[in-house]
Amino acid sequence: MNVGIVGGGQLARMLALAGYPLGWQFQVLDPAADACAGQVARFIQGDYHDETPLMALAAWADVVTFDFENVPAEAARILGQRVAVYPPAEALAVAQDRLDEKTLFWELGIPIPTFATVDSLEELQSAVRRLELPTVLKTRRLGYDGKGQRVLRTDRDIEAAWQALGSVPLILEKFVPFEHEVSILAVRDREGGTVFYPLVENHHRDGILRLSQAPCRKPELEQEGWDYARRLLERLNHVGVLAIEFFVKDGRLIANEMAPRVHNSGHWTIEGAETCQFENHLRAILGLPLGSTAAVGHSAMVNAIGDLPERSAVLSLPGAHYHAYGKTPRPGRKVGHVTLRADDPGMVSAGLERLLPMVGFRPDEFG
Ligand code: AMP
Repeated sequence: MNVGIVGGGQLARMLALAGYPLGWQFQVLDPAADACAGQVARFIQGDYHDETPLMALAAWADVVTFDFENVPAEAARILGQRVAVYPPAEALAVAQDRLDEKTLFWELGIPIPTFATVDSLEELQSAVRRLELPTVLKTRRLGYDGKGQRVLRTDRDIEAAWQALGSVPLILEKFVPFEHEVSILAVRDREGGTVFYPLVENHHRDGILRLSQAPCRKPELEQEGWDYARRLLERLNHVGVLAIEFFVKDGRLIANEMAPRVHNSGHWTIEGAETCQFENHLRAILGLPLGSTAAVGHSAMVNAIGDLPERSAVLSLPGAHYHAYGKTPRPGRKVGHVTLRADDPGMVSAGLERLLPMVGFRPDEFG
């Protein structure tokens, strides 16, 4: 089978690497000449708004999927006329707009932070009065890794945040003083069968994921997360992996956002689960039986942001698995990750204390 992927970043790269052992072929489409999935798959350099490269991908592929959600709707439509495309267009559309996403969460009874739409400075001022500071102002579209958002703590922040973000439609949401952050990764196949990975505990800095630990040390909320994920999978008629990020506050889940694709908080599954998220996404879109999502021991995944840690130091840690994405180092860029896996959670914690300083954190940075 030939799998086409729109987007040629590290997620496409890891999809291809997971799919080759099963005998599939991969081709990625990306506007950037140095797209890192192009090192491991056939590569079309082209714009997502240009019909010619989209048609070339559709002509070659038996099935097309995406490594990011902000695919232009027209590109998904062009592809969908010629080839099977998963996930469905609606899942992409909902995930592209924070208002649509929150509206869907609300309709499905999934708790969300209080929010208001904001299209003018006056609306922002009145929304701040209603919601009360602190709040977070976010662009409705094209935000990721903390980009396109500002935390408002005092009245003085209002005008500055509006100047920074106000040229596009916004939402203002209540700042959630969460105890921690978790995510759920779920997979739905073409016949509607579903599987769910264990709850993952996540730690961010500056809006970027730094550390994921799985299975979560406090799994009490796992069933609740799976239930919310099931509602979304079914409503969207989703096929493939769907990730949902939550805040945990007062022992309850509050949904932050969803991603209709493989997700950074699922990278630990490459070594830490019976079947990794990348293989299960491929199995789902290719109409094959889904694999077990059971955790194999305990895992901690640490992102390498900006620069890669020293290989030999990392590989001296027991249970360490090094993933370099083949990207040019640049501040703020995800260039790789390391997963520590062991049967004993104490061994993972001990390894983490030594690993964190290698990627610029204190040994006890994340508690
Ligand atoms: P997002 O781009 O919405 O995923 O936000 C990135 C990160 O910013 C989240 O993982 C949180 O750590 C933080 N954040 C976003 N929204 C809120 C909020 N309403 N309250 C508290 N922290 C938030």
